[in-house]
Amino acid sequence: MKHFQKINHFPGMYAISRKNYLAINLNKLKKLFNEDFNFFPKTWVAPIDTFDLKLYLSNSQNIYFIVKPEASCQGRGIFITRKIDDIDPNRHVVQEYILNPYLIDNLKFDLRIYVLITGCDPLRVFIFKDGLARFATEEYSKPSGNNLTNNFIHLTNYAVNKLNPNFINNIDPNKDNIGHKRSLTYVMKYLESQGIDVEQLQKNIEDSIIKTICCIQPILKHSYNSCQPEDYSNSMCFEVLGFDIILDSNLNHYILEVNHTPSFATDSPLDWEIKQKLIIDTLNLVQASHSAQIKYYKKQKILQYRRKFFGLNEKLTKEQKIEERDNSKVKRDLWESNYLGGYKKIYSGQNSKKYQIYISAADRLWQEYTGIKHKSKRNLTVKKRNLEESCANSSIVELPVIEKPIEHPVFKRLSQPPMKKNRSIAFPNIIYQNIFRRQEKSCDHFPTFADSFLKNTKNSDEMIRKKNKLKNNEKTLPNIKKEYVFKKNVTLKELLMLEDLKFIPRN
Ligand code: ADP
Repeated sequence: MKHFQKINHFPGMYAISRKNYLAINLNKLKKLFNEDFNFFPKTWVAPIDTFDLKLYLSNSQNIYFIVKPEASCQGRGIFITRKIDDIDPNRHVVQEYILNPYLIDNLKFDLRIYVLITGCDPLRVFIFKDGLARFATEEYSKPSGNNLTNNFIHLTNYAVNKLNPNFINNIDPNKDNIGHKRSLTYVMKYLESQGIDVEQLQKNIEDSIIKTICCIQPILKHSYNSCQPEDYSNSMCFEVLGFDIILDSNLNHYILEVNHTPSFATDSPLDWEIKQKLIIDTLNLVQASHSAQIKYYKKQKILQYRRKFFGLNEKLTKEQKIEERDNSKVKRDLWESNYLGGYKKIYSGQNSKKYQIYISAADRLWQEYTGIKHKSKRNLTVKKRNLEESCANSSIVELPVIEKPIEHPVFKRLSQPPMKKNRSIAFPNIIYQNIFRRQEKSCDHFPTFADSFLKNTKNSDEMIRKKNKLKNNEKTLPNIKKEYVFKKNVTLKELLMLEDLKFIPRN
């Protein structure tokens, strides 16, 4: 992919968008941070956790499980049971069934919340202010022998409930309190009218969403950087995720599922109202515009000329890379604050410290799982690593005494690398990194490219060959008018500011 191109998925997002991986990743952090991850219902992945599941079942009473195929959607293949024998030991996710969901009009519902991720290193996460509430089509009653198979009671999927003849479609988007699909705004207003602290509830939901994304940040970061090692903008991928969230009667919320391809179908005017705004705001926020493409090709053209004339395959230094990363971050922050639309930024520099602990834990777990050592550790020599380990084990750290070498001109000269005798003749050794536009007269004392090119020529044959080469270059550049003088230590950014790169070799 070219750097101006964008793709609407992140490599590695399967780690939360597949039910089994979501369970595996969240369970790992739940073991470490117990209460902080209470928003995820007790979940087992068959066959790995079958033993744990049996143990849990033998110790508890009056519980039901909802069994889901590990990679399916729209309520397909889901059933509720309390018997372990009903559960297929292969490729299923088993979750404790929430027996006391919050009900509106006696109906069970779940919330579809849209979350946009625009960067993974560091994370950039936004939540869309509106969303959908999907309702079951038959009044809720606790699971029992005769209603266990009635999906119109227990499942809230639109794909399931639209098949019920009782299903009411919302025709008027201004009346978002009618039918079996309503808006998130309506649900929040309803809860507020019931005296519930909606602001706190929304904060808690946002917190859980961030934690869920934090648990796969190391995977996203690793996959992104291995696919695009030269991208410093952290902006080539974006993804709209659909979080399915259910509330219980005590107003605890639970994340049931994360969809990486939430439906953008607009079967009703309410769908249209919400989803078209979501798509427009997303495209605005991720800066999907043509100007990035123009800029990219302009830069490539300049680099191409530089390669042609100097033979330089330009690579940024570490400092330049950091600078470029910082610059693009500042630019994006500014853009995003102006084009938020219906989005709200929920993971930013200010609150990131709070979540760093989860990212670090996830990183450590992932490194243990994959056997990948952190880059900084991998580069340490054995000696340094031993020293680091011994420092970590002892409370008093004794630093090794380093003797200063004797400073004598002879030692100094010996420590320098030997001078290269056969320097490249075709291209000057000095790296001319920048271009200055000067008037012809005043630039006499500056070495031009042609001077350097023809310097050190061994014999007349070579001189003729080189001159021909220069002439050929001249032919390929039609609009030669002015002379540019090349000078050291000026950045590529300044080079980009020039409208066009033209060059006249001196005869
Ligand atoms: P799918 O990807 O097939 O939609 P979900 O995990 O979203 O699967 O589950 C489908 C529906 O089942 C949800 O919308 C919800 O109504 C219900 N459901 C899922 N998990 C639970 C649970 N743990 N407790 C109660 N209801 C649940």
